This record gives sequence, C-alpha cells and structure tokens, in this order.
Amino acid sequence: MSIKWDEHFNKKTNERLILSTIGEMMRLASEENALSLTAGEPYDLLYPSEALKRAFEKTLNGNLVSHFSYSNERMGIYPLRSWIKKWMADEGLLPSWVTEENIFITSGSQEGLNFVTELLLEEGQTILVESPTYPEALLVFTKEGARFLEVPLEEDGPNIEAFKNLLKKERISFFYSIVNYQNPTGYSTSAQKKKAILELAREHNFLIIEDDPYHHLYYDAPPEKSYLSLAGEDCRVIYLGSFSKIVAPGLRTGWVVAPKEVIDQMLKLRVLSTLCPQTLPQEALFNFLQETNIPEYLSSLRHAYRRHRDAMIEGLEKYVKPLGLSFQIPKGGFFIWGRIPMIKDMHDFARFCIMEEKVAFIPGDIFFAEPSNGKDTIRFSFAKTPPEKAIEGCRRLGSALKKYLEQ
Ligand code: PMP
Repeated sequence: MSIKWDEHFNKKTNERLILSTIGEMMRLASEENALSLTAGEPYDLLYPSEALKRAFEKTLNGNLVSHFSYSNERMGIYPLRSWIKKWMADEGLLPSWVTEENIFITSGSQEGLNFVTELLLEEGQTILVESPTYPEALLVFTKEGARFLEVPLEEDGPNIEAFKNLLKKERISFFYSIVNYQNPTGYSTSAQKKKAILELAREHNFLIIEDDPYHHLYYDAPPEKSYLSLAGEDCRVIYLGSFSKIVAPGLRTGWVVAPKEVIDQMLKLRVLSTLCPQTLPQEALFNFLQETNIPEYLSSLRHAYRRHRDAMIEGLEKYVKPLGLSFQIPKGGFFIWGRIPMIKDMHDFARFCIMEEKVAFIPGDIFFAEPSNGKDTIRFSFAKTPPEKAIEGCRRLGSALKKYLEQ
C-alpha cells in the first residue's frame, strides 16, 4: 500500500518549496560529465586543506568533552565571534556600537538568511530585491510568503530613481542586497548609493539585509564602505557574512551582525531549530584563523581567482562574443553575467549545450523574481574552472551556440 504523502504534507509549506534550479543544473552537468561553469563554490585545489587538517587535529587534541556536549555558547563560540569582530573592525566594516554580543554564528549565511526572514517577514508582506538576485534567497523569501518588488541593478548598485518609485507604490518590509560582486551580476553597490538607500530606509521605515559573502574576493580595489558601517547608531541593517567562499563551505560557518534585539530573537529561533550550534567546526576554524596569516592567504586566493576570471574572459572574448554574447568584466567574486539576445529560451539552450558539447552554465531567468525578465541572460562561474578548462569551456560554448543558431 503506497502512502499518499500529499495528504500528510502541510499544503502551504509544500506548495512553496521549490527545487533549486542551480542544484538541478549542477546535477545534470555532473551526470552528463559536462565541463561545468555552474558552481558558485571554491576550486578544489584552493581549499587550505593542510592548514585545516592541522587545525582540526589541534582541536581534537583539546578538551573533547566540550565538543561532545551541547554547547552553552548558543551564539557561537566567543573566541570566533571576537576574532570576527576585530577583523571586521580593522577593515572599517563595523560601527562603534558593535560588540561580540552583536555577532551570531550561523550554519552558513543561508541559515542567517532563514532566521532573519522568519523573524522579519509577515505572511503576504512585500520585500524589495535586486533584479537579478540570488535565487536561493528568493526561495527562502517565497517559503515565508513574501511578495516581491524588483529594483533594476546597475554596475554601481540599484537604480535610485526606480527604487524611489517602487517605494511610492507599496510599503516594504526589507530590502535584500548582495552588496559586493553580486551573485549573479558581479556588480557592487557604491557607498554613495548605500547612503541614499539608508536615507530612504529611515524615511520609509524598512530594514536592509546586507549579504556579503564575496567581500574579500576583489581583483581590483577593495570594496567600498558597508551599509552597516554607514548606518550609525540607529541601525536598520542586518549584515550576513560567510567563510564559505574564502575558507570552505563544508565548515558551514557564517555569521550575522545585528542590533541586540534581533540577536535575542535569533537565539530563541535557534533553540527551536538546533538547540545550539556545532562547536567542532567553529573551534577548528578559529584555530585555522589564528594560525594563518589571513591577509597573505586572502591575497593569494585573490591572485588565483583573478587568473580564473581572466582566462574565462579571454575564452568568452575569443569564442562567444563574436557570436553575439555581451558581458561585463566583474571586479571580484565568482561570476560573469551575460546576455545573448538571439536566444529566446536559455533553458533550452543550456540543455542543448550539455547534451551536444558537454558544457554547462546557469540560465539567467532563475535570478529574477519575475522570470520573464531574463530569458536571454546567462550566468557563468569561473570559480571552479582553472584557466585551461575555462578556455576549453568557452570553445565548446561557442561551438554549441553556432550549431544552435543554425538549427
Ligand atoms: N548569499 C549569496 C549571495 C550566495 O551566493 C550564497 C552561496 N551561493 C549564500 C548566501 C549562502 O552561502 P553559505 O550558506 O554557504 O554561507
């Protein structure tokens, strides 16, 4: 007898649970053994594996019972929070009121996004997102019953006029922004635009979620001031940070910086979800951070990813641009965002590329709250693709595009 699971599932939640298209594309690419330009995650050889191994060994040689028990440090271990506080302060990212008590360790910034959304969003409320934006954030917001407004994103951040006009239409609960080397466009918001948006936030009483996982992956100049540091005492900003892109996503360690009122509520939510965070990855990460020269480490990471980016640009210029691809060179992060106006259905072309030429990318429409907006857009990731593979991937893409257009 088969169980009718639909009868048991909570309808509201289940209708809103949508499969991640990025995950699906990555799965298809791997099944078909395609050269993948899909993954927004670090390159295998750039994990600091040996240093992390030593950090774990040191942790395991310490007080084991403290790792095996439930942790009393429900906001995350103090030394790690303290390290993050000092690091961010040294980089000018923090306002002066932030202490360790404003820093909350999460299981990746994705958990931070979930907590914050659950706390802030009322069923049916409207939020403002960048157009395009990170689809797994859209899925979180959708699950919590959000309605969306989209503000067009330009190279230096949201279009401010459009932002103001949208605010005239509807009240928003919060604005979600990936401030540096955005996923998927690679664009960053200037300090000037951040100031203008903070002013609008005060005027219209909304909050800002500043998602910043790509902050340290700049290939030109470092990023401009954060919303958080510009916000002052009366802070309407909740900042999400992550070690996923700069150390290892498998550690599942990110953090939230927020006013104490928000942190207190997150603590209550954590008790419901996991009681307390895992201490082992936090301790190991802390040991790694202490024993590594982080500025030097980050600089070598940037150097390596800059080479990945440059090779992909070279390949796209040579093999795909002449066939109609337009794109901008990102100044940081993992992604190149492009447009091929002759392609009317990028999903169809993506499947064609995987099957015909064994090369995979992500169709751009999934990055829009309203997918009809981006049918001819495309996202490439150069993170996991070393230079020789990037060039080969672009060659295959060019060859697929030629065949597809001639069909
Ligand atoms: N925000 C953005 C913009 C991302 O691109 C990602 C990962 N792709 C995340 C958040 C989540 O990262 P993590 O949970 O690994 O920190």
